[in-house]
Amino acid sequence: MALEEDKHSLLGTVVAVQANYYQVKLAETLLLCTRRALLKKIGQKVMVGDRVEVVEPDWAGGRGAIANVLPRKTELNRPPIANAEQILLVFALEEPTLDPHQLSRFLIKAESTSLDVCLCLNKSDLLGSEQLEEWRSRLQQWGYEPIFISVEANIAIEAVSQQLQDKITVVAGPSGVGKSSLINQLIPTVNLRVSAVSGKLGRGRHTTRHVELFDLPTGGLLADTPGFNQPDLDCTPEELVNYFPEARQRLAVASCQFSNCLHRDEPNCAVRGDWERYEHYLDFLAEAIARTDALNQQA
Ligand code: GDP
Ligand code: ZN
Repeated sequence: MALEEDKHSLLGTVVAVQANYYQVKLAETLLLCTRRALLKKIGQKVMVGDRVEVVEPDWAGGRGAIANVLPRKTELNRPPIANAEQILLVFALEEPTLDPHQLSRFLIKAESTSLDVCLCLNKSDLLGSEQLEEWRSRLQQWGYEPIFISVEANIAIEAVSQQLQDKITVVAGPSGVGKSSLINQLIPTVNLRVSAVSGKLGRGRHTTRHVELFDLPTGGLLADTPGFNQPDLDCTPEELVNYFPEARQRLAVASCQFSNCLHRDEPNCAVRGDWERYEHYLDFLAEAIARTDALNQQA
């Protein structure tokens, strides 16, 4: 009676949160849960992606209560999501034309989360194979192995599926690159979430946007994020260098003379040099310094 045993352990994943209700997925069932008073008392928050213990299940009524939250492996604040393992960063190669500086900004933002970063370049149908190979070798030098896809021409969607299997993944990227198209392609129309959600959590009844995890047919969960074209960086000038794989590589084999080196014009710097994104590094460094200065003035 494996199923019975599973139901007694009652460990589930929170797939949606709204006001004081939590939608918890237990095996193939969804329960609309409240949070036990004790959790409120100790200030234990419940986030989308949390692994939780559910008590007092009412299977017929589809209700339950969350009694415990398991320790989180990772935690993102924007969007608020627990236990995500990777970020799927989606850009288009054309329409809109890939802007390397904007891509760098998103990559740095993704790198700063400590999650794995998977780079997916869509609309490959609009470029020839030579141009694709140019982008590939360029991005390899940045330290990334991009997956070229076309949602419209159904190219390499399977490779993305494999990358998402059995993981919690956060999708990010500017608007217009094909994120919604990709998600629609990856997730079948008869979605567990859509069919089982009660009115309380139904989308469209509320204007405020909330995070939701979508079930992937291959196993795994996907969180969509609002499309924004210019994410704010919020790292310190000292941290920034860590978010460039090619700079990390340089620092793995050599050290700067000064431990507080910002890799601008300091003597004997191991980072400064002939690599494409060094210019990007300097731009984002100036931004980080300006932000730190502004914060210090406020303090
Ligand atoms: P989102 O804003 O990132 O969610 O992007 P959408 O999914 O709304 O797509 C934006 C536009 O790009 C739509 O007109 C899509 O039809 C188009 N699009 C999506 N994928 C592809 C693709 O692989 N090739 C081409 N040529 N167009 C695509
Ligand atoms: Zn340096």
